[in-house]
Amino acid sequence: MISINQTADPEKEKHRMAALKAWETMRRLKIEKIKSETESVDDYLFDPDMRKVAFGTYRINPPLIKPSKLTWIEKGGVGKELSDGWALNYAVGCTHACRFCYVDNINKRYGTRRTGPLVNRAWGNYFYSPENIDEAIEKTNWKRWKGIEVMMSSTHDPYLPQLASVTRKIITKALENGVRLCIQTRSPLVKRDFDIFTRYPDLVRIQVSVATMNHELSRIMEPRVATPEARIDIIREAKRLGLRAGIIIAPVMPPLKIRPSVSADMDAIVRSISDIKPDFIYGESLHTRGSNIKELEVALGEPIFLENFDAAIEKKFHALLLKYGMTGRWWKEHKRINLA
Ligand code: SF4
Repeated sequence: MISINQTADPEKEKHRMAALKAWETMRRLKIEKIKSETESVDDYLFDPDMRKVAFGTYRINPPLIKPSKLTWIEKGGVGKELSDGWALNYAVGCTHACRFCYVDNINKRYGTRRTGPLVNRAWGNYFYSPENIDEAIEKTNWKRWKGIEVMMSSTHDPYLPQLASVTRKIITKALENGVRLCIQTRSPLVKRDFDIFTRYPDLVRIQVSVATMNHELSRIMEPRVATPEARIDIIREAKRLGLRAGIIIAPVMPPLKIRPSVSADMDAIVRSISDIKPDFIYGESLHTRGSNIKELEVALGEPIFLENFDAAIEKKFHALLLKYGMTGRWWKEHKRINLA
């Protein structure tokens, strides 16, 4: 078994580097093909510069609340306790541009029919907002989900700068009608809505994701997301106001040249929340979804080894929580990966 603080053996690394090079060659050939057909080859490659993001609009079909497969295994999902099986998604694309994200595969599976040609661009560099959102809010029968927890959101961050004002309208309507919300975000803009959440403390929980305390790694994995400290501060502020708040320590990356010690990194995350004592603590390792591992390997410039990592790091997660007087739940790798 690979130690969680070691890189893989040199022989394996050599093979993975060769595979990575082959994948990059294939990608280059694909780009050449696009280049011969269109002029948009630059758009196909990810660029963290926000000015590279192309914006569009699309029509969203009410109701805004749709079934989600991310929820409890007991209810037929993949086992993430983030809702009662429902999600509120109201954008196509996410400008946070996390390189491990699998949502691009879902959007590209729909192709250009649902929205338009911008979905062919690199993940993070296309964004469609709903042009008829006010109409969709009105046409959603919110009372139908009274007392039911709905995740907000599973295919984009609800507190992207482009969505924060729409999100405020949606949470207002949902909470007025007794819908319970699990807010899932990496954005400090969520704090702007704490005034509404504090009116409905029993209906809301706020979940923030943190994968690493290593800023260099964070910049590569989540190029447009607030620092880990700023995200942890969301939980601190929420708890101070009497709101229920939790953390998802994910996706935990295996040992990397840029951050060799997984244990030290996770210790730093757990230590930084030890004075807050979040109401919910979940953990999850990096999982293979679509082409996310290749995207990450290209961004990192090194191969990623996941063999036996999930089980090893799960033990570390529980041990570290215990060390700081907390408990949490680990979401094991789940093979049913048809997510939405
Ligand atoms: S914030 Fe979530 S949806 Fe957005 S890119 Fe990151 S992982 Fe994907």
